[in-house]
Amino acid sequence: MNLLEYEAKQLLTAYSIPIPKGEVLQSGFSQSPSLPIVAKSQVPVGGRGKLGGVKIVETPEQMNRISDLFSHSIKGFLPKTILVEEKINIKKELYLSLTIDRLLSSIQVIAHPDGGVEVENNDSEEFLKITTTGSNLPQMGEQLAEYYEIPNQTFALQELVKNLYECFIANDATLLEINPLILTEEGTLVAGDCKMTLDDAAAFRHPDWAFEQNKIETNFVTLNQWGNVATIANGAGLAMATVDAVAHAGLHPANFLDIGGGASSESVMRAFNKIMDYEGVKVILINIFAGITRCDEVAKAIIEAKREIISLPPLCIRLAGTNYEQAADLLNAEGIALLPTLESCLESAKRHVS
Ligand code: GDP
Ligand code: MN
Repeated sequence: MNLLEYEAKQLLTAYSIPIPKGEVLQSGFSQSPSLPIVAKSQVPVGGRGKLGGVKIVETPEQMNRISDLFSHSIKGFLPKTILVEEKINIKKELYLSLTIDRLLSSIQVIAHPDGGVEVENNDSEEFLKITTTGSNLPQMGEQLAEYYEIPNQTFALQELVKNLYECFIANDATLLEINPLILTEEGTLVAGDCKMTLDDAAAFRHPDWAFEQNKIETNFVTLNQWGNVATIANGAGLAMATVDAVAHAGLHPANFLDIGGGASSESVMRAFNKIMDYEGVKVILINIFAGITRCDEVAKAIIEAKREIISLPPLCIRLAGTNYEQAADLLNAEGIALLPTLESCLESAKRHVS
């Protein structure tokens, strides 16, 4: 389960991790927060800064920027709430996250001195990665301070990483990412943004979990890190068979994705966005056998993805079943090619990855 930023930040506060002062607004809000503030769309996806989901409001005339955010969809999501926070004076944006290292049965702390919206432009080799099961936590403040080149923050970083670790474990998180971790002009460290994923399988241990329903209703599993053929299919059986067929053809599947029965074009669009979160995908293979699902809904999402996602890899598309003709007409009109069989999709995928 992916938490919204404000929900994740509430969990941070419970572990004494500093966050900017703020409040959550619903549409039609009557509060008038004291300016300047930063207004942030509460959608369960990242990259909001670049997509117009983070607005600075400095004057009363700019207050409409907040209401505009309610009608601005990001990667297929409209926010139910907007987080408004005091505007922080940023000296430097850092990156800090905790994830599970399943191979080593431990937690990996990942850091980079250049955080913020461009973090993914850093070479993945460049990130500092420290594996921990807790015993080396006491040294980590010094390690991070040296790495970030902010020696006077050693103590603050020590407290921060200890508290993040505790927060991560206590909440059964699988990801806790602070980006940016802001070094303020005033010389303090504040969690500017927080992305947190909790392990759904641990829900029975947390009867208190009550988060906004923001579950991405597609079933998505990342496979090998080196996979470069992304797959989109409907139904768990067909989705698994598609992954198998990709592997059998000597290609490397990147993911399993079942868009489910009766998927709307919005949910298929989210599936595309989910795939775009992963690096290294060279081709997307779409294999739909539509019963309850309608081919035309899938086709609408394909057209939208083609228009909106600038770096969309080539698509190999096979559709069959309900409303196939309508889908074929829609795609034809856009000059998007359909392939007749899964075999022909695999042949085409091979050409794209070689
Ligand atoms: P994301 O794009 O979804 O990760 O949203 P973030 O919450 O990380 O915000 C994106 C960017 O907006 C940050 O990297 C900052 O550069 C900027 N930003 C966010 N909050 C503040 C703030 O309080 N003050 C200033 N000056 N910039 C901010
Ligand atoms: Mn961020």
